[in-house]
Amino acid sequence: MKPQAQSYICDLAPYQPGLPIELVAREYGLDPAKIIKLASNENPLGMSPKARMAVQRALRGSYRYPDQYQLLQALAARLGVAPNQIVLGNGSNDVLDLAARTFLNDGCQAISSQYAFAVYQIATRSAGAENVVVPALNYGHDLDAMLAAITPTTRVIWLANPNNPTGTFIPYGQIERFLGDVPKQVLVVLDEAYYEYLGTADVVDSVQWLERYPNLLITRTFSKIYGLAGLRVGYGIAAPQVAGFLNRVRQPFNAGVLGLAGARAALEDEDFVGRSKKVNAEGRKQLQTGLRVTGLEQLPAFGNFITFRSTEAAGLNQKLLRAGIIVRPLAGYGMSDWLRVTIGTKEQNSKFLTALASAHKVSADSST
Ligand SMILES: *Cc1c(COP(=O)(O)O)cnc(C)c1O
Repeated sequence: MKPQAQSYICDLAPYQPGLPIELVAREYGLDPAKIIKLASNENPLGMSPKARMAVQRALRGSYRYPDQYQLLQALAARLGVAPNQIVLGNGSNDVLDLAARTFLNDGCQAISSQYAFAVYQIATRSAGAENVVVPALNYGHDLDAMLAAITPTTRVIWLANPNNPTGTFIPYGQIERFLGDVPKQVLVVLDEAYYEYLGTADVVDSVQWLERYPNLLITRTFSKIYGLAGLRVGYGIAAPQVAGFLNRVRQPFNAGVLGLAGARAALEDEDFVGRSKKVNAEGRKQLQTGLRVTGLEQLPAFGNFITFRSTEAAGLNQKLLRAGIIVRPLAGYGMSDWLRVTIGTKEQNSKFLTALASAHKVSADSST
């Protein structure tokens, strides 16, 4: 006799993270110090020095259970909501999982877009619900088709804006109209992991919508622009009732002492966030220009990464790995011709573009 997992768990494809530097160093016989990892949308500037100091100071208090109070207060003040509208998570992934466990079970449906962030399917199906995938429109979310896919058993709609892994962005006006059309018993999860990277022409204070849409849950994270991916802190913002439901399901100590301290300091370090945004905007231009020179098709990019196409994507990925550059293949997303590269520092971007140009040239030569 073997322990029997639920059939819907057996069928799940595990999430595939970007390859770790140490693993690539071992497999390709490279010096880990020379490897450039542009595979997981981490901040190339590292973490804010203020956050690092705060984490070091918090270390000595790590024998105690964490207290979320101060980060909740700071976030509430920053966002203009009450602390009881915020749900902290062990990364925003945790909040997505909480939403699924709170609103879904066997017999319910959730809707997500083709090429949307893989965690939505995992969260939905591990709650026992059915995940309805709506075909993408130009690699982005087709809001009209998603609306048309709603049935009486739909409980959750997952929207990523900007989306990962495609980088596509839905103008906020369209999302607001969509919210107006979605029946109020359906929770709309608006995943804004890359919100802080949006330019002033695109950004809208989506938190203000919560007053009008009690079925909206916005998720954001300290993993991307705040540079704390390894500390695992993210949060959801919703009307008090939805936040209250999630907080009942939430493990009481899901965000740890170090993460909470780092997040509080990172939130206040406007200089670091500003620099990160600037380096990202400049790096985006640099990579977009460089990719254009290679002639490879690329998707419009709104976050801290660029998704580009090559019919030799798998081979190109191997050549980049051999050159010590880790990007993200997207075959697991049904995009086997595409690779995703995180925007790095100017120097990292140059090295990537140089390696790409020579790898691409070798592929082109060998295929003729
Ligand atoms: C990176 C990312 C997240 C954030 O994950 P964390 O758990 O907060 O590290 C969430 N959603 C999307 C679409 C992402 O790309």
